[in-house]
Amino acid sequence: MANDFSNISPICMSTGILRISLRNIAQNWTMLNALSAPDVETGAVLKADGYSLGASEIGKSLFQHGVRSFFVARPDEGIQLRNSIGKNAKIYLFSGHTEYSTEIINDAVLIPFLNSPKQFFRHLKNLPNAPFAIQLDTGMSRLGFMPSDWIKHKNEILNASPCMIMSHLACADTPEHPMNESQRRNFIAMTDGTNIPRSLAATGGILLGQEYHFDLVRPGIGLYGAQPFGQGKDTLILSLPVIQTRTIPKGAQVGYGGAWTAPKESTIATISAGYADGITRILQDRLELWAGQIACPILGRISMDVVCVDISALDKKPKYLDLISPYQSIDDIAEKAHTISYEILTSLGTRFRHIYDNTIAEQ
Ligand SMILES: *Cc1c(COP(=O)(O)O)cnc(C)c1O
Repeated sequence: MANDFSNISPICMSTGILRISLRNIAQNWTMLNALSAPDVETGAVLKADGYSLGASEIGKSLFQHGVRSFFVARPDEGIQLRNSIGKNAKIYLFSGHTEYSTEIINDAVLIPFLNSPKQFFRHLKNLPNAPFAIQLDTGMSRLGFMPSDWIKHKNEILNASPCMIMSHLACADTPEHPMNESQRRNFIAMTDGTNIPRSLAATGGILLGQEYHFDLVRPGIGLYGAQPFGQGKDTLILSLPVIQTRTIPKGAQVGYGGAWTAPKESTIATISAGYADGITRILQDRLELWAGQIACPILGRISMDVVCVDISALDKKPKYLDLISPYQSIDDIAEKAHTISYEILTSLGTRFRHIYDNTIAEQ
């Protein structure tokens, strides 16, 4: 992915450009799919607008690539995805059948994961003929039927023919954690003999091995090549525009609070992106932007819309500097910010212009 933005209208020039490789996302899906047996279906989790990278575009591309089961968190995400991928795929809804989601579930043909007896009875009453799935709590205590409620209502629920039973692992990114095996056993105990398709694994669970795969796996973060799927391909380049460059003398201060003082004459660039774009202030003093493979340290405090970086090491003034690139992954940034790649992605916000590479159909 070369940094050639010559075809972009000048109106966008003060906006960062997030290049998203749909082809590499599809290849990561293929690699994840290959980790489970051929009879295990591999879906795709596109909640939070596809980890803020664009659920519509990613969904369309993965649908062309053969994905037929998608997962979102909220009803509005379900409508958006349905409108872009059409009617020939299943869209599951993690938040279940809440008081206000009946109409959307019906109109957009979403399959809610019912999380409690209350949701089950609501679904039965409001949409008696509409498909549904069940989420069980096997130890995470976040969403899903508690074991006692499940035992109590199991027969009635099975009589209503759920199309899937699912649970979610709390510690799948730590393979040696005893919670994984404990949740797996609970899941088996709660579902054996039901003859309903089962799903337990997200990205981390896929990597735990075949005994975690059941009938369908649900990767999200692994599609973008982030941990724990480190062997996946890079899928993103985020390039931020330089809106000013200047040379400052030794002793000059940079940014709010005068938090950085030039130890010698320096060339600095002001970049159009800041904490409002997810470059959290914690990253002050720790983060670099990249001109190809040359690192340019961030200077002083990160502002809402701009940051200053030291470009003294460059021999010409750059038009863009990269925040996410082959030289600085989302996992690198997450580590420096004391968070996880998921939060870095979903914090990127909506101000960047998204550019998608050519889709699988053109290959
Ligand atoms: C977010 C989520 C996933 C996907 O998890 P990743 O770790 O991103 O692969 C799968 N299932 C459920 C219930 C989720 O909430």
